[in-house]
Amino acid sequence: MPSDKIPGMYRPRLLTPGPVELHPRALEALARPQLHHRSDAARQVFLQAKTGLEAAFKTQGQVLLLTGSGTAAMDALVQNLFAPGARVLVPVHGNFSERWAKIAQQAGLEVVRLELEWGRVVRPEHLESAQGPFDGLLLTHSESSTGALNDVRTLAQAFKARFPEGLVVVDAITSLFVSEFELEGWGLDAAACGSQKGIMCPPGLGYAALSPRAIEHLKPRGFYLNLASELKVQSTGESAWTPAINLVAATAAVLAELLPRLPEHIALKQQQNEILYATGQELGLKPVPEVKSPATTCFYLPEGVSYAQVKEAFAARGATIIGGQGQLKGRVFRLSLMGYSDLYDAYAVAHMMREALRFD
Ligand SMILES: *Cc1c(COP(=O)(O)O)cnc(C)c1O
Repeated sequence: MPSDKIPGMYRPRLLTPGPVELHPRALEALARPQLHHRSDAARQVFLQAKTGLEAAFKTQGQVLLLTGSGTAAMDALVQNLFAPGARVLVPVHGNFSERWAKIAQQAGLEVVRLELEWGRVVRPEHLESAQGPFDGLLLTHSESSTGALNDVRTLAQAFKARFPEGLVVVDAITSLFVSEFELEGWGLDAAACGSQKGIMCPPGLGYAALSPRAIEHLKPRGFYLNLASELKVQSTGESAWTPAINLVAATAAVLAELLPRLPEHIALKQQQNEILYATGQELGLKPVPEVKSPATTCFYLPEGVSYAQVKEAFAARGATIIGGQGQLKGRVFRLSLMGYSDLYDAYAVAHMMREALRFD
């Protein structure tokens, strides 16, 4: 065994697009004694997290904190913004955009799928080819399964030029805190995020952002994920049911540090991703995405190399990476530095990539 692979030489690390390496402020918050969720201290923490998230989504509306993963926020938005029978357009070009289609189907919506090759991004021309009318458009900002980043602002504009009454709902789960994002400013009506991604907290919270316009359009349904029930109480710092208050406290603690330096943080994520893609290019690897999201680096596996080999090579260096989902299973590998990490980590991971793909 080469001396650098002796157990203990590498601290275990997550290089996955969620969950991610935790922010130290999240760890500190999680070490505090349990708060009762109907106490002043808990209400104060809840409101800090809520207002911080509203600043991050850049909305004058409201962000609702839901106990569940990011998918809970996606599900809640679809169920509460569209009545059964509503007709929605869903571009499908990866695992998460496929998830939008499944959620909408389950909610009894009429789903018009716009199939694109995985790795491609959605363009306004694609939307124009779809036969309307539509009550909504469900978009994935950063498609973590392929590493592609959609220009949701331009897509929302193109959609609303044809269907001004429609609602544009965005999965911002791996774009918020990693890439630029604006809710109303970009013409978006609602968006979803989750705690185990760019905000560097543990899994367990979904964040559902509603613009003032989306709030007017609420068609509440469901019991646990009923957004009207949540809207009623969350502005007072409470939630309808027992919230994962420890995770809410972690959210508030990370936001206090992250929000004032969000532009620098986004620049770091961009630069880290460029370093990994440049290293891939040097190694002759082919990138999957047409337009690269800073949240996930995604490469096709070189000829004759299996995902298991790459995964093992990273694992021998303490790192957990992830493979392909759906139709990309067994064909790609993905890395992410969305978690707590700096440029130093990006250079170390780049070096690890060179070693790992030579199978030393
Ligand atoms: C992680 C992720 C989700 C949500 O997954 P959960 O497991 O429910 O948190 C949704 N969309 C994208 C793009 C993601 O990366």
